Amino acid sequence: MAKTPSEYETVVGLEVHAQLLTLTKAFCGCATSFGDPPNTHTCPVCLGLPGTLPALNAEAVRMAVAAAVALGCGIQPTSIFARKNYFYPDLPKGYQISQYDKPLASHGALEIEAEGQTRRVGILRVHMEEDAGKNLHGMGGDSVVDLNRAGTPLIEIVGDPDLRSAAEAAEYLKRLREILMFIGVNDGNLEQGSFRCDANVSVRKLGQTRLGTRTELKNINSFRFVAEAIEIEAARQIALLEQGQAVRQQTRGYNAEKRETYLLRDKENEAGYRYFPEPDLPPLVLDSSLIAAITRSLPTLPAVRRHAMVHESGLAATTASVLTSHPSIAKLFEDAIAKFPQPVKVANFIQSEVLRDVTTTGLTAELPVCSDQVAEILQLVDDGTISGKQAKELYAAVRGTSASPSSVVAERGMSMVSDEAAILALAAKIVAQSPKQVAQYRAGKSNLLGYFVGQMMRETGGSANPALVNRALKQLLDGR
Ligand code: ZN
Ligand code: MN
Repeated sequence: MAKTPSEYETVVGLEVHAQLLTLTKAFCGCATSFGDPPNTHTCPVCLGLPGTLPALNAEAVRMAVAAAVALGCGIQPTSIFARKNYFYPDLPKGYQISQYDKPLASHGALEIEAEGQTRRVGILRVHMEEDAGKNLHGMGGDSVVDLNRAGTPLIEIVGDPDLRSAAEAAEYLKRLREILMFIGVNDGNLEQGSFRCDANVSVRKLGQTRLGTRTELKNINSFRFVAEAIEIEAARQIALLEQGQAVRQQTRGYNAEKRETYLLRDKENEAGYRYFPEPDLPPLVLDSSLIAAITRSLPTLPAVRRHAMVHESGLAATTASVLTSHPSIAKLFEDAIAKFPQPVKVANFIQSEVLRDVTTTGLTAELPVCSDQVAEILQLVDDGTISGKQAKELYAAVRGTSASPSSVVAERGMSMVSDEAAILALAAKIVAQSPKQVAQYRAGKSNLLGYFVGQMMRETGGSANPALVNRALKQLLDGR
């Protein structure tokens, strides 16, 4: 991977478009569902037919405000929708309804971990807008347009140019996506385009305070490629400057196969969009009680949960990070410790057993067990009914079912033999059957204890309480 020569620094600011998880579009009643046949979710409004009027989706507003609050932004009491005019086949009206000089929210921040330190990355603004449709190329040799996505509500989150490396950019995206998913406003699905990122990249000599000329990398659909594209673009700009050439303000794409960025177009300036206030929508006025209610309804953010997992529950930072990798996994953990309050045991069990059977698609997750089952299995181990080894077997038996672990233990006769008298009697039988081994053991071959333990386990099908087995055997063999 290309390295930044040490006398330069890379400056990155990210713009993220995140689809809001409303059931219907921003300004009409069409469904936002993904993957249906082209142009089956359209109406005169989102087709941009003359004479139609947009009507703002209240749920989209609620979600946009929730996201802005979670990102620490101030919400503007009045924001204004604006038309962003440009011509492109996937934009039926010839303009996108967006927000311009009076956005919904501004002045937020996101904390990221960079080289072991917490860094605050500014968020310039969060505004609402609608998505465009999708051009599909090569259908029978033609290009066609699918307008199912046209009019889907988006928030655009514009970050300050506070990021100093590709790794920091990737970390920022990860944290941003996580917050939006945890508050339930975005499904984080990069492949389906519901979380899309443009990166503004420039370089400058270390110590220089003025920003260099930036290029904008468009629509890169994985965090890894974003990081790669930023590094490669920074290296390209440094090479230009080193050759005495200027960086030109451009919009560029990234070719992951060739590992190079390429020119899409020379950057249009903002005047080209001829922004003006949307005459068909009134100003968006939000009273403070609504903002307060949305703020109160926000769930605990993932970074706060991680902090609690480490500092209150005593989990390792890496474990906390795994458990907050998806809202459903975090919820499983938190619900399970409410019923079985030994967080380290719950965390280890989820990490070592449950996680390998979890599949996630966006915000939905298929969990093999519920928190009741996790808590019950661990309780059965804790009270000595089953061994740790049997817990794995029990998990395998209940996963994917709604069976209660205790009833499975009863049905399968799994409960660990903890009857001291029965264990002592069995130990006596085994010791009596093995005079040769007893003699060797007593002559000093103490590792033969394992032989007797093995016999006990074979006789009981592995269900004898190991602590009691050891004690019984030692009592008989050592006479104490
Ligand atoms: Zn529609
Ligand atoms: Mn936008």
